[in-house]
Amino acid sequence: MIELIDVVKEYEVGKERFRALKNISLKIKAGEFTSIMGPSGSGKSTLMNILGLLDRATIGSYYLDGRDVSKLSDKERAFIRNREIGFVFQAFNLIPRMTVLDNVMLPMVYARIPGKMRREKALEALAKVGLLHRIKHYPNEISGGEKQRVAIARAIVNTPKVILADEPTGNLDSKSSEEIMKIFQKLNDEGVTIVVVTHEPDIAQHTKRIIRFRDGQIISDEPVVNRIVL
Ligand code: ADP
Ligand code: ADP
Repeated sequence: MIELIDVVKEYEVGKERFRALKNISLKIKAGEFTSIMGPSGSGKSTLMNILGLLDRATIGSYYLDGRDVSKLSDKERAFIRNREIGFVFQAFNLIPRMTVLDNVMLPMVYARIPGKMRREKALEALAKVGLLHRIKHYPNEISGGEKQRVAIARAIVNTPKVILADEPTGNLDSKSSEEIMKIFQKLNDEGVTIVVVTHEPDIAQHTKRIIRFRDGQIISDEPVVNRIVL
């Protein structure tokens, strides 16, 4: 599903170049459920931005579902991003002036899905996260855990191959965090490939594989033992 080969990412800082990722090679197969851990500044967000086609590697290749996406144009990458990748963020990133239903329909507007289908697919996604009773609410009228469930519905509405979640439980209490991990486990059981950045060992323990970063390098990559299954 995902293959990075010798990926380097450098940022220009004034006249200097800073190497945030140093020769990362990594394979994530379809159906995997992986967490990325590591201290602040170790390159996790940089990695997620590259995986999500939000940014490009300075050197190296990225194969997504067999295609070398590092060679594609920005337009081609936006097309793939809008249809094949679902994003979940720590701060939810819902649009405050739109209802829950409209927030979930938005990615289908970007992917140019016909208007008629949007409502039906959004309701399907909201049913999966147990939020059909909230469709007319606005983000400020629901809890943090519910906001993140809306964000997950938005992430899955285009039936992406991969979900990229950056600290999805970072703003949630432990009960809501568990609910979120339970939804991810269900989606993964249905075959969705999931990559989660987290600082919390408990959260990582719900996934199947832990990759640890430090100073832009992978320092360990291991299957989860004694995984928590909800
Ligand atoms: P993490 O997500 O693990 O906290 P990041 O990927 O955000 O790490 O950052 C890795 C390193 O790259 C850090 O030293 C950070 O300061 C640097 N960095 C990140 N983004 C930029 C940028 N746009 N310009 C310059 N340096 C950056
Ligand atoms: P194009 O006109 O090149 O086909 P789109 O109309 O698909 O591009 O997208 C326009 C812009 O909106 C792009 O920069 C894209 O990355 C951004 N975008 C697409 N989908 C989303 C989304 N779900 N949330 C936020 N921004 C998005």
